[in-house]
Amino acid sequence: MTGNQNDTDATAEVADDFDVDAGDGLFDNLLSGTPIFENKEILQPSYTPPELPHRDKQINQMATILVSALRGETPSNILAYGKTGSGKTASAKYVSSELERTSQKYEVPCEVEYINCEVTDTQYRVLAQLANQFNEQNRAWITERIEELRSLREAAVDTTAALADTPFDSVAAIDDRMTELKADRDDIKEVPMTGWPTDRVYSIFFDAVDYRERVVVIMLDEIDKLVEKSGDDTLYSLSRMNSELTQSRVSIIGISNDLKFTDFLDPRVKSSLGEEEIVFPPYDANQLRDILDHRAEGAFNDGTLGEDVIPLCAAFAAQEHGDARRALDLLRTAGEIAEREQADRVMGDHVRKAQDKLELDRVVEAVRTLPLQSKAVLYAIILLEKHDESSITTGEVYNIYTQLCEEIDADQLTQRRVTDLISELDMLGIVNAVVVSKGRYGRTKEINLSVPIEETESVVTSDLRVEGPSDIQPSIQARFDDSTMFDR
Ligand code: ADP
Ligand code: MG
Repeated sequence: MTGNQNDTDATAEVADDFDVDAGDGLFDNLLSGTPIFENKEILQPSYTPPELPHRDKQINQMATILVSALRGETPSNILAYGKTGSGKTASAKYVSSELERTSQKYEVPCEVEYINCEVTDTQYRVLAQLANQFNEQNRAWITERIEELRSLREAAVDTTAALADTPFDSVAAIDDRMTELKADRDDIKEVPMTGWPTDRVYSIFFDAVDYRERVVVIMLDEIDKLVEKSGDDTLYSLSRMNSELTQSRVSIIGISNDLKFTDFLDPRVKSSLGEEEIVFPPYDANQLRDILDHRAEGAFNDGTLGEDVIPLCAAFAAQEHGDARRALDLLRTAGEIAEREQADRVMGDHVRKAQDKLELDRVVEAVRTLPLQSKAVLYAIILLEKHDESSITTGEVYNIYTQLCEEIDADQLTQRRVTDLISELDMLGIVNAVVVSKGRYGRTKEINLSVPIEETESVVTSDLRVEGPSDIQPSIQARFDDSTMFDR
């Protein structure tokens, strides 16, 4: 948080050392005026805001359920859901850090483990990560206990009165316990992220949780991604653990971007996980404005933020299902654009440019993550469009596609499959394909690119095992020139 602050100070110092009269050097212009950002870090997605306006209700709901953990009881499982950017992760992390803080204050054994299932996306990996996290905690806990026993032992060597109110009646008993703890610590094994039978990983995880008395809250963020990718076996095991645990108790918080995923759950898992449901509704434009007002404080230097900037960011993001992440991205990007333009203030126009940039980033990302075959089909469409084909048909795309596959030595799909891939590109909003009737010649699709051609092309070619357009285009181009394939 102070990083940026320091950077700014350091730059200012350097500027002072220079002779300003020496004329306009490369950096003079860039250093003149007040910098836009005071601390840009505050606007980054990784920043944890100290308060979350308009999420009091959800935060209190969660706390009311989880407070049982501080009484040594098992909290109900929670399913929290809402669209992306509705503050689910931020709220859950806030509640869990408060829970852990309070549990330390009152010395109640309670722990929260957070897993992002979009990153840790298989049953095995979730269990392995949990096993390792709990074992790590157990190791730390054992080390602390051994330290305590060591001091107790020293006191007991002086006088056995030190053993009053302890479970030990002799120094030898302390020694035994210390030996036991050390053996337990030596037994702790790191679970590799692949390779073991899942049963074995589960049993290590189970033993790690049950090693001592405590309530553990397992927070599974983006749980829908886990279920989508690898089913609900892990959730099934987790939701039934309490009947077998002897020392500890487990409670699960599942966080999801949509509720539909529960349709794919085993009914027992569904009812267990959904004991309590917390809904995160989308923010409206006014709420987004409050959120941005809070976050902008400290992020921008005084007087560098135009009046209409925050309302405009809020309005754009409200159209994106009230996505607070989008609102923050817009505000930060608008500031960066203003900075690059060496403007004194961020203005509405910078927000509009930021909106365009983020839109483009989204397209580029969508294209980048396409499978290779879809990229080849897309590249065929790009080449046709660059060749000024006004209405591109599926047949033409297929023709170029097959040539491309030869060039890049890729498998060739059937025309039917390619037609499907075109429909997928259409659904992703990357191309626009309309079915047109050709009278007695039947029906065909007319295809147009719906994304900026240059940016898209450079993303596609960089992944098609070609160095750049220059590698592949001339030979395809040659065929355009001498072939009759476009005769209609
Ligand atoms: P979700 O998990 O629902 O997709 P996040 O909790 O990750 O959404 O929120 C997205 C971004 O918006 C994060 O950077 C978060 O800090 C911020 N954010 C969300 N809600 C608020 C709020 N009420 N106040 C301040 N920042 C918020
Ligand atoms: Mg989230």
